[in-house]
Formats: sequence, structure tokens, C-alpha cells
Amino acid sequence: MFMLSRNARRLVVHAALLACAAAGGPVVSAAEPAAFEQVPGYYRQAIGELRVTALFDGVAFLPRAHMKDIAAKRAAGLLAWSYVPEQAAGIQTAVNAYLVRRGDSRILVDAGTADCFGPTLGRIGANLRSAGERPEDVDTVLLTHAHPDHLCGLVKPDGSAMYPNATVWLAAEDARYWLDPQVQAQAPQGLRPMFDMARRAVAPYEAAGRLKRFAAGDALPSGVRALDTGGHTPGHTSWVIEGGDGQQLLVWGDVVHFHAVQFVQPEVSYEYDTDRRRAVASRRAMLALAERSGAWVAGAHLPFPGMGHVRKEGGGYRWIPAEYSPVPGEAK
Ligand SMILES: [Zn+2]
Repeated sequence: MFMLSRNARRLVVHAALLACAAAGGPVVSAAEPAAFEQVPGYYRQAIGELRVTALFDGVAFLPRAHMKDIAAKRAAGLLAWSYVPEQAAGIQTAVNAYLVRRGDSRILVDAGTADCFGPTLGRIGANLRSAGERPEDVDTVLLTHAHPDHLCGLVKPDGSAMYPNATVWLAAEDARYWLDPQVQAQAPQGLRPMFDMARRAVAPYEAAGRLKRFAAGDALPSGVRALDTGGHTPGHTSWVIEGGDGQQLLVWGDVVHFHAVQFVQPEVSYEYDTDRRRAVASRRAMLALAERSGAWVAGAHLPFPGMGHVRKEGGGYRWIPAEYSPVPGEAK
């Protein structure tokens, strides 16, 4: 997923808050509705020996026009059927990341938006801490791809590493594309800021020798497999993490952006897919794999916590969200 930066809008909001505070008045005036905050956005799920914590970054709004290869009326019907909130800015879409504990090891899959976008996003760090975890205990970060909503959260506002003890894994194909100034210079104008964001996010890890570019056949952290699901980006990767007892977690990144539409019609694509045909093939492959294997799925843009299973239904598929269940070994 990608949206244009809303830094300007955020600055306006900050300016308004500062002006209000300086005047000694309430931050929220009586004429405005109070900010509506949810409880901290994390959710735990046991999968075999894995202890997975889904982390909510916030919501983005994707313009309806960015949904491709579907008639407008059909798209509107599917969105309405699923009661998906839609605003003038677009279709509400969650942004999630996943912390996977196995023994003492902590693997983070994707890192959220941090300060790259507006005030509706950037909560991964806060939610990680709310879940009782510390960034310095994360030893591995697996990136599904190098878009800003997945890697801006690798760094603090000062550009230093948010996860100072982690090794970051990024597909070589995505690194060759998003980290290369020459590719950036050839890219459409609207995409160019994404390259800067990607380079800034990986810089401290690269400097410390802890950015691993992997290709097919390379050794990966134990118990982890990378599936080539290119199309959304050149090196888009879905991660399979083994949970023992025949249980698996499939963290599929941006295989689905529009859950109300793309399970039913996997051939629907997204404006920012680098290669739409390849993205559709990857989506079909992951849906089929999830359905056949019965694996747990975690999706970056599925409704929070974005965890559940996939069933076949009619000519397409159906998303079955996780049912809340106690996590063994968690303190009351
Ligand atoms: Zn995304």
C-alpha cells in the first residue's frame, strides 16, 4: 500500500494544538467532538509454540479509483455488502504488523509507518510497548516489501534504529529496486519519495552490517521460509513461520489490500502494484495455499488483527477472522 505523505496536514494539526496549549485553553474545544481513542491495538494468538502479537498501526484511506480491473458498480456493491467504511479520502484500510515469539526469539514482520504518514497511523511502537514488549528484544525483522507503510517504523524520528539489536531481512529484488537512486530517477514522479523513505529506514541497519538482502536458496533464520509473491513490488515476500505440531503462520503482507473485494475476486488489482498480472498470480497462489494448508494467515491490510483463515467459496474465497481465544501461558 502507499499513500502520498500527509505531513502538511499533520503540521497544521500540530500548529493548532500548540496554539491552543499556548493560550492555556483546552486542547479540544467544546465545539469539537473529543478524540476517540480505542484501547491499545494489540492482539495475541497462540499458533503451536508461537506466540503471535498482532500490532495495529492505524488506518489508511485508499481512493476507490486505485482499485483496478473491476467495474465501479460491482466494487461499490462488494464494499457496501461488507460494511467497509468509506470516506471522501477513500476506503478505510488497516495497517498491521506482527511480532512472533518463539522461545526467547522475537521476530517482527514489518514495522509500520512511524512518522511517514498522517495522524491516523504510526502506532506500532506504542502498541508494541503496550503489549509488554521492548524494541531492543527484537532480534529479527522480516520485511514483506520496501513500501513506507511496512518499513518507516524501522527508525526513530532522529533516524537511529528503532530495533537496535535486530537483523533486517529484505528480498534482494526489492532492495535492488527501492534502494537504488538510479531506479528512483527513472521512476514516476509520484513514487520517488518512497525511495527516500526506504533508504532512510534501512540506513542504520545497513551501516551496522545488519541488513540482509536474500535471494531464492539463501539461508534464512531457522524455522522461517520466504515465498516469492512478487507483483505488488518486485521482491514482495510472504513469510511462512513454523509453529510445530503441523501448525504454520503465513504472513502475506500486501497479497490483499481490499478484503471486501479481493477474496471474492482475486483478479482485482491495486494502483500501486508494480506488475498487476504478477500480483494477481501471487494472490491466487497464496489464497490457494492458505485454503489447502489450513495455515493461519496474517495480512498487513486485513481488518485488525488481520489474523484468520481462508475458505473457498463459490468461484472465489472467504476470509474467516480469528475467534478470540485465551493464550496458553499468559498471566491473568
Ligand atoms: Zn502496504
